[in-house]
Amino acid sequence: MSEFISITGARENNLQDVTLRIPKGRLTVFTGVSGSGKSSVVFDTIAVESRRQLNETFTWFVRNRLPKYERPHADALEGLTPAIVVDQRPVGGHSRSTVGTMTDIHSVLRVLFSRHGTPGAGGATAYSFNDPSGMCPGCDGLGRRVQPDWDRILDPARSLADGAVRFPPFAAGTWQGQTYTNTEELDTGKPVGDFTAAERAFLMRGRPGSKVTVSGSGGTWSTEYEGLADRFERLYLKRDLSGMSERTRDLVRGFLVEARCPDCGGARLNAAALASRIDGHSIADCSRMQITDLIAVLRGIDDPVALPVAGAAVAALERVEAIGLGYLSLDRETATLSGGEGQRLKTVRHLGSSLTGMTYIFDEPSVGLHPRDVGRLGDLLLRLRDKGNTVLVVEHDPDVIALADHVVDMGPRAGADGGRVVFEGTPAGLAASDTLTGRCLGRRTAVKDTVRAPTGELWVKGAERHNLREVTVAFPTGVLTAVTGVAGSGKSTLVAELTGAHPDAVVVDQSAIGISARSTPATYLGIMDTVRKVFARETGAEPGFFSFNSAGACGTCEGRGIIHTDLAFMDPVTTTCHDCEGRRFREEVLRLTVDGRSVADVLAMTAGQALGFFSDPGVRRRLRALRDVGLTYLTLGQPLSTLSGGERQRIKLATRLHRTGAVYVLDEPTTGLHMSDVEGLLALLDRLVDAGNTVVVVEHNLDVVAHADRVIDLGPDGGRDGGRVIFEGTPRELLAARGSSTAEHLRRATR
Ligand code: ADP
Ligand code: ADP
Ligand code: ZN
Ligand code: ZN
Repeated sequence: MSEFISITGARENNLQDVTLRIPKGRLTVFTGVSGSGKSSVVFDTIAVESRRQLNETFTWFVRNRLPKYERPHADALEGLTPAIVVDQRPVGGHSRSTVGTMTDIHSVLRVLFSRHGTPGAGGATAYSFNDPSGMCPGCDGLGRRVQPDWDRILDPARSLADGAVRFPPFAAGTWQGQTYTNTEELDTGKPVGDFTAAERAFLMRGRPGSKVTVSGSGGTWSTEYEGLADRFERLYLKRDLSGMSERTRDLVRGFLVEARCPDCGGARLNAAALASRIDGHSIADCSRMQITDLIAVLRGIDDPVALPVAGAAVAALERVEAIGLGYLSLDRETATLSGGEGQRLKTVRHLGSSLTGMTYIFDEPSVGLHPRDVGRLGDLLLRLRDKGNTVLVVEHDPDVIALADHVVDMGPRAGADGGRVVFEGTPAGLAASDTLTGRCLGRRTAVKDTVRAPTGELWVKGAERHNLREVTVAFPTGVLTAVTGVAGSGKSTLVAELTGAHPDAVVVDQSAIGISARSTPATYLGIMDTVRKVFARETGAEPGFFSFNSAGACGTCEGRGIIHTDLAFMDPVTTTCHDCEGRRFREEVLRLTVDGRSVADVLAMTAGQALGFFSDPGVRRRLRALRDVGLTYLTLGQPLSTLSGGERQRIKLATRLHRTGAVYVLDEPTTGLHMSDVEGLLALLDRLVDAGNTVVVVEHNLDVVAHADRVIDLGPDGGRDGGRVIFEGTPRELLAARGSSTAEHLRRATR
């Protein structure tokens, strides 16, 4: 076997005949400004070719059932090993997917309880909320259930006679409402909020044999008393809603909430599974605990027979703790994890596996990590390497770069001005080199001394969501504020409370842009309409002809340019449409040109090139916004689905610039940014503040922290051990703060 992965003449995306040798069994970090071609080498060339070669090893029969991977544009690719990509894509998943199921630790706990729980509920499946033998029958193992919203249905301040029932079909004065205004079992003049538990129970569930007198057109008669909850459930929950009119459904929906299942209390399991305990803890208790606490509980098990299984669970939990996620609980739904948390959990899964000789590929694994936790991340990457794997990492963080055995710096710039290897060697060699990355590595962080004076304050008072401990804090307006703290300390939660209390805030996050898979910068920024009009005017054809969403679309890929194949057991795969070669349009459309360019040519332009092509002022303003957020290198037609989280955030920001008096909230805006691009970002944030806006960023990047007017530091640690404001003040004051990891790292970076 060769000792290198060698790439000869790679030309994917912007790569300009890249030739590289990457040492196997080593940690190689790829650096360079965003858009320089790091992903094009690592993901679009190495990972794609590795998968393609893996497919070739299958028999003809199997291969015909797999999608065809296209060979990346390169003269030769040799020495590849099977690649595993650990990216930032949200783990997502349905509500049955939790940290416990994703890491497989939940199944270890199930084995533990099935063998050693007292009383035992049965085999391991009897403890699974995804299996009928273990799931709570009240919520089918979801832990949540759609229920009547009693706070809305009943007004506690009113009596039954005086309209306490607010649900119109059962309200006082209606035929069904008589049950509750006429009952002699209850004091109908007493506010329902003052009912005793027994009175409340009667109102809701009645009692067998209890009667009530009602009257209708046929006179007055005595009938069975039906409890309010029983009646609501019978008429609206235990029936197929589709049989009801749209109006009724809308009405009922307004009186429903999805809330914790009352049968299992959110534990998802049936009574038998919940009754089984080890040292007094049920499996649900174990799942609810913070992982650091669960480790302590399992370590305390002294039954020698149970030790092997408990030990396996502890080992897996410690891997989660080791990457700084000890503040999570196993019952946390994976859909609520951030991209960085998800990526680190995926890594844990691989650390537990015994595969060696693989190529692991990571996309900016430091995202969401406080400088304190970057060290632990580094250990994790080195452990993967030491198991005999090749580890490739795309990263901007100087601490991760410093760990590399080998560095490949791409550049010199983005897009067409990049795509070349500008440095190969050791981290020390890179720092001494004259490349953009090298020069940035030598730089020290400078703390801003003159901070802006706030124009006012936005308060968050007594915040208690998640781990926040009654946090009361004022966010100054008219300045740049950085919210800092280790992962899990409560930054996102606090900022969510801020935007909840001040809903006019403009939140610019990294979440998927909730529009169609056909979206591109051109459609997202609203440039496409003008492009279509210009082409129609100049060529005499219909505007719809120049849209890949309608008449102009290539028939084979329906204007997508790619063919998407979903696979049952693997990640979905996309390949370029062979008919239009990814250009999305029909042949006839491509023959119509303006200034010698077809509409596909226009979509292939970068934002920077398009600025030289368009004279329309509206289009130019939007293109300049793209430039201002550092996305000059994006082409107008690049599918938004191919953008990284950081790029998604910046393109959103581009559509929301040019306001005044707004509150911008950004979650780690430096994601995906090279050290040299951070300056540009700071200049942009400064312009936003100077135009009369308030900017709040959740950020780990110390250059940003040092440049803020105010820092709000949460901690001291994650989860239960976080949730407090441990420092508030200027960056200069932070330098002198004790007991804050952020302060400690800022001191180090400024030395
Ligand atoms: P980096 O990873 O260094 O940020 P990339 O490899 O993602 O850079 O991008 C290099 C260049 O290729 C950029 O100009 C980018 O816009 C372009 N590019 C990347 N992916 C695609 C794609 N799927 N289609 C078209 N252009 C792309
Ligand atoms: P940070 O942004 O500082 O990393 P978060 O605000 O995301 O921290 O998390 C603070 C605490 O709240 C952590 O213990 C985390 O596990 C918990 N938490 C965050 N989001 C959720 C959620 N959707 N459901 C339950 N717990 C959550
Ligand atoms: Zn339940
Ligand atoms: Zn096509």
